[in-house]
Amino acid sequence: MPRIIAVANQKGGVGKTTTALSLASALAILGQEVLLIDIDPQANTSSGLGLRQTKPNLYDILLNGADPGRALYETSYPKLKLLPSTIDLIGSEIELANKERREYLLANIIAQVGKNFRYILIDCPPSLGLLTLNALVAAQGVLIPLQCEYYALEGLSLLINTIRRVKKNFNPKLYLYGILLTMYDARNKLTKQVESEVRRHFGRAVFQTVIPRNVRLSEAPSHGKPIFAYDPSSRGARAYMTLAQEILKREANLGKI
Ligand code: ATP
Ligand code: MG
Repeated sequence: MPRIIAVANQKGGVGKTTTALSLASALAILGQEVLLIDIDPQANTSSGLGLRQTKPNLYDILLNGADPGRALYETSYPKLKLLPSTIDLIGSEIELANKERREYLLANIIAQVGKNFRYILIDCPPSLGLLTLNALVAAQGVLIPLQCEYYALEGLSLLINTIRRVKKNFNPKLYLYGILLTMYDARNKLTKQVESEVRRHFGRAVFQTVIPRNVRLSEAPSHGKPIFAYDPSSRGARAYMTLAQEILKREANLGKI
């Protein structure tokens, strides 16, 4: 059985895509079979792996009945496959809204193609619409990247409430997989304040590993490469590798909400 993790936060630009891409790559490098699913119409995960406007993609599967088995693409890592997104998914929420069991479309796709993977990571868009809902219904765990800034905690409680609602109405096995502090700046007082608050509230659900602000992480996507191909010795690469190791180690022990 694969471990299915949605990387979600309705707030934009907090490091969802960077985390999905880098963590999926790190897990693959560490020998895990990984499927990365891009469900964001911005398709940043897909282009971050050098795949743009590939067909068939998630849109073709969701709306044109394409075979999901034909939409798994090889990446530069033998153990990492990508199910790509496309800008066409913009506006699809309206088309999808008319479908039967519209919340379970991604779960059904994963049931068809997910069996042989150990980890399935889903990169969500910055909203709590139908696409993110599909990810939360398909997943077991939610990984929340959190930027340590003033409004982070407000956004976080909205997301936690959403997770609770999805758990109650659609997916009883859903739980908080972990909160990841991103773009971390240890010299910034506010960063430390937000960190201690989050750790006090969420305890063990907050990953020990934090992801520092690192310019190499922001450069890698424009080269169509994961950080481990672009600059494996960068602080960003090392942090995501440490996160992958932390996940492999403590995976079974994370608290449920
Ligand atoms: P969206 O909500 O638009 O999907 P996101 O949550 O997926 O955004 P990212 O795209 O991963 O966020 O990151 C936002 C921007 O910050 C990107 O330009 C990315 O390259 C950069 N970035 C992400 N993490 C870091 C980091 N640790 N250090 C420096 N830059 C980063
Ligand atoms: Mg993104």
